[in-house]
Amino acid sequence: MSNNPYRQLPSVSMLLDHPRLQTLRSTTPHDLFVEAIRLELDTHRQAISETGIYAETQLIDALDNRIRTMATPRCRTVINATGIVLHTNLGRSPLAECAARAAYDAARRYTSLELDLSTGERSSRLNSIRDGLCRITGGESATAVNNCAAATVIALRSIAAGKDVVVSRGQLVEIGGNFRIPEILTASGARLREVGTTNITRLSDYESAIGPNTAALLRVHCSNFRIRGFTETVSIEELAALGRKHNVPVIDDAGSGSAIDLTSLGFHDEPTIREGLAAGADLVLFSGDKLLGGPQSGIIAGKKKWIDAIDRDPLMRALRLDKMSLAALAATLELHRAEPVRFIPILQMIATPLEELRLRSMSLAAKINLMNGLDAEVSDGESYVGGGSLADQVMPTIVIAIERRGMSDYELAKLLRTSATPVLSRVQNGRVLLDLRTVFPDQEEELVAAIRHIECP
Ligand SMILES: *Cc1c(COP(=O)(O)O)cnc(C)c1O
Repeated sequence: MSNNPYRQLPSVSMLLDHPRLQTLRSTTPHDLFVEAIRLELDTHRQAISETGIYAETQLIDALDNRIRTMATPRCRTVINATGIVLHTNLGRSPLAECAARAAYDAARRYTSLELDLSTGERSSRLNSIRDGLCRITGGESATAVNNCAAATVIALRSIAAGKDVVVSRGQLVEIGGNFRIPEILTASGARLREVGTTNITRLSDYESAIGPNTAALLRVHCSNFRIRGFTETVSIEELAALGRKHNVPVIDDAGSGSAIDLTSLGFHDEPTIREGLAAGADLVLFSGDKLLGGPQSGIIAGKKKWIDAIDRDPLMRALRLDKMSLAALAATLELHRAEPVRFIPILQMIATPLEELRLRSMSLAAKINLMNGLDAEVSDGESYVGGGSLADQVMPTIVIAIERRGMSDYELAKLLRTSATPVLSRVQNGRVLLDLRTVFPDQEEELVAAIRHIECP
């Protein structure tokens, strides 16, 4: 054998047939396997040029690692142990079983998406959801687009492009990740007419702003913050009455949109999606994947005249829902007709009794305490609804604080996050917390396995 380390590097075909890689090879697409080999050989050639040394075990280890990483999908199922129910980075609302199955069925077969089976004629893809949306909102008609941002854009565009929309300065909010009301308004082609001040806006402020160019009054639900102290806002009833008096439509961006009254679950100040229209607003807008517990979508409900205008807007084609989301939304709406808190995961989580969380947490902590170098302690804590909803209100919960010998909180959180089944925890005051409120009971075994994986050797 030559002493030239480059010459010792195995060929692609030798690596393809390397005994240590055969199990992996049988489960990995061939192209990906070959690409990983080429990339790893490049890296090793580079390393040889720097160190002059070649080691076969290192190459095989690195290759094994690279193939596994490349074969792992970027978007994976994770265990959400943060206690944040609507976690935007984790896909917000997990679907109810039947809603997920409806999306699955729609995905893998042809569906009657735009066909009326009784007449054989073409029909609207919105037929499957319109009645359900009217039922939960009390609207005359309803439609849906990709998300609430899209709902706001298309509603404002259809009603107010080139004209003025009156909004309180106290409601010019940023919802998170580039959703700012002034910018959304501009994107819709409407002109923003700000009234009032940050803390005080009166009905007279709106009234004096109304003129021949006014196309709508917009109320934005400030879901993710509160202003305390000396404040005054105009209720949706008053705004609706003002709109009627001047014949100007009133749009209510309800944001989180709870279909059920959350006071029974301990929350206050979160209006239901029925309230806006019942109070006289012309349109209500909200997200389908926040408190409704459905797929990502933006719902628009209210006066038929405006819904028809929105459905006719050419932009609708660009913002419309796909067949899988439509199927999931239709199924979610059916659950709202029956027993939403029993069947919709996010409502189930919000409603989980503290005692149940305590029992589950004690049992998990006991298992962790048997593991080498790990320590778990159960205590009281707080869970959040998240997704910009009910920002200043928390749910009492039970948390498990875990520690690993000789490891910092951030290192431990990272280890959990990067395990085979990623586990998302909350790092708070130097402690790694697991909140089982957002962990599905059928994920607990996987959670135990992930934690067992990180015990000390
Ligand atoms: C969350 C939210 C939105 C944005 O909804 P997406 O569905 O994420 O586009 C808009 N308005 C309010 C008031 C919200 O809370």
